[in-house]
Amino acid sequence: MAEIVSGTHVAVLATVLVFRLLIPLVCALLVGLCGTNAGATPRVLYLNRCADRPVVWPAWEDDAVEDLSSVLEYVAEPPPYPYGYASWQQVLATTRRLFAPFDIEVTDEDPGDWPHDEVFVCGGPWHAGLEPGFWGLAPFHCQPPETAVSFVFPESIGNAPEEIGVTVAQEAAHAWGLDHSLSCKDPMSYAAPCGERSFQDRELACGEYFARTCGCGGDQQNTYQRLADVLGERDVETVAREGPRADEMVGCRIGSGASWSRWVLVLLVIAIRWGREAWPAGAPAPDSFARSCHPPSSGRGRPLRTG
Ligand SMILES: [Zn+2]
Repeated sequence: MAEIVSGTHVAVLATVLVFRLLIPLVCALLVGLCGTNAGATPRVLYLNRCADRPVVWPAWEDDAVEDLSSVLEYVAEPPPYPYGYASWQQVLATTRRLFAPFDIEVTDEDPGDWPHDEVFVCGGPWHAGLEPGFWGLAPFHCQPPETAVSFVFPESIGNAPEEIGVTVAQEAAHAWGLDHSLSCKDPMSYAAPCGERSFQDRELACGEYFARTCGCGGDQQNTYQRLADVLGERDVETVAREGPRADEMVGCRIGSGASWSRWVLVLLVIAIRWGREAWPAGAPAPDSFARSCHPPSSGRGRPLRTG
């Protein structure tokens, strides 16, 4: 009897040791090595001003690390942000302010191989194979993907950093399921601004100029709550004390740059595109936002794109 009890005790003790001590210890070590815990890592949004003339390739799925875009029809090689350093800093500050309440890091430092979303803020729509008039181009997902690649065209907008920053926020948020809002206070709107814009914590009708069904269903959306669901919220006091998140990235970055694997991937994408039906010709007008979403598991179809 004593032996059975003793054996049970040993088994319980071993289980407790493994689950309460060993696993947390290994996790803590890993977190220590990597500098961060994957589960607690904020999403990273990289604003690329194209200083080094990046080449963005059309692909069936976005990949911000490899510069692959699901909304491009042609290879894009946009020129650098045209309005100088001070203007760029305002763009960055505007986007950071808009996303300050949410758990996301907005940076203009290349995150390399670190998973991230990316907005190319450079060139004009003609560099992306679109007609003049577009301010941006983004994939639209009701189920946010792990990585998304969008475009904002400062050469179309002009040197209006606040407007460019708001457009960056809008394009990035399209990829996370935010539709256009009918409110001049919301960054998802086409309307002329009426004061400082922020993601509105209230139900707003969807649409560009007239109310319509929202892209992910329903007649209204709460852009603030949607972002809170996708990104997570930051503590209100922290936001008030520290303002927007600055560059805080830490961890296991491997570094970026062209590599043989990149070129193998590019060739593969070209080969796949060769054998598939091309994306329908003709770019959508800014007000012809597609009104329904691909089902989340619709296979390898290209996502809808929007401006
Ligand atoms: Zn839009």
